[in-house]
Amino acid sequence: MARIAYYREWRPQTFDEVVAQEQVVFPLRQSVVKGAIGHAYLFSGTRGTGKTSLARIYAKAVNCLDIQDGNPCNKCEICVAINEGTLLDVIEMDAASHNSVENIRRMADEVLFAPVYARYKVYIIDEVHMLSGGAFNALLKTLEEPPAHAIFILATTEPHRIPATIISRCQRYDFRRIPQTEVTKRLRLIADSYDIDIADDALITIAALAEGTLRDAISLLDQSATGIEGRITRDSLLNLVGLVDDDFLAEMAEAIITKQVDKILLLVEQLTMSGRDLTQAVIDLARYLRNVLICQISRQPERIIQVTARSLEKLILLSKQIKNKALIDLIQGLSSLLNELRWTPDMRTSLEIGLMRLVGEIPQSTGVDELPSIDEGES
Ligand SMILES: [Zn+2]
Repeated sequence: MARIAYYREWRPQTFDEVVAQEQVVFPLRQSVVKGAIGHAYLFSGTRGTGKTSLARIYAKAVNCLDIQDGNPCNKCEICVAINEGTLLDVIEMDAASHNSVENIRRMADEVLFAPVYARYKVYIIDEVHMLSGGAFNALLKTLEEPPAHAIFILATTEPHRIPATIISRCQRYDFRRIPQTEVTKRLRLIADSYDIDIADDALITIAALAEGTLRDAISLLDQSATGIEGRITRDSLLNLVGLVDDDFLAEMAEAIITKQVDKILLLVEQLTMSGRDLTQAVIDLARYLRNVLICQISRQPERIIQVTARSLEKLILLSKQIKNKALIDLIQGLSSLLNELRWTPDMRTSLEIGLMRLVGEIPQSTGVDELPSIDEGES
């Protein structure tokens, strides 16, 4: 039997299981408890924050035969059929591939028929911003006079692309990125349930890499559990995803801040030999220096940067060795270096020259700047 991906297995099945979206979960659940069901909802927010999962939970909750304090029971025939995706009265539509006027007209015709098994016919339209202008008009007509048995849940990552006339017909709920601490907690729960041996700082790293997207975080945990033998550490994880580890970044940052040219060249050598992606290394370095900057300007950097105590100590130490303006110049310099690296035939040399320029070993006006580059016409 094929292994089920963790993400599918850990998809929330009740309102209580949804992670960190109280501003959406509470009112939706209340509407079920009070029987105040709306006809049109708009769920907006970044991908992987639980919009579709919550739409399915709502579809179950309004139709469940044995509702438990607003939560669907997941045991009755209706809940089971929705979980299996076989209930005819809950229709999921991907607007990215069904965006035409005909698609929506057909749906508008079907919606008039009463539900077959359930109380409500629920239409979940994903990526709704992809609908054509004509399709939006057709949808608007339906939303203006929806049959009593119909509920529309429109989900989108780009609410600004939806006509105001549609939005004004919907109860709107905004899903936010999930805080790293919440993601980390959830990952720990999942890891423990499968007996995955993983270090705390590795979990924090996964949460940071996923940038508030629980789905990505769980997939990455899945990937590292399969791809790493033995205990998953932060280093083995970074190795797996091809990122540079913190100790290396700290060394490189220090060498740049203290302008140790030989050290910089040596580290570039190490980096090249390790086979890491040099462009990614520059991105990582810029992020690292951004964290140094946070330590410089924030009184409580630990609330903004999620790293281990040891890494934080190092960041704070570095933040005291450089002036604010020089640090910002460095970060901006890395950003333009990144652009150059995208076009260069010899990454290593360009990286070396770029870093030398950053520490002032090579004047700004000479070097690679004068070489013709492909994107010259744009600048
Ligand atoms: Zn049920």
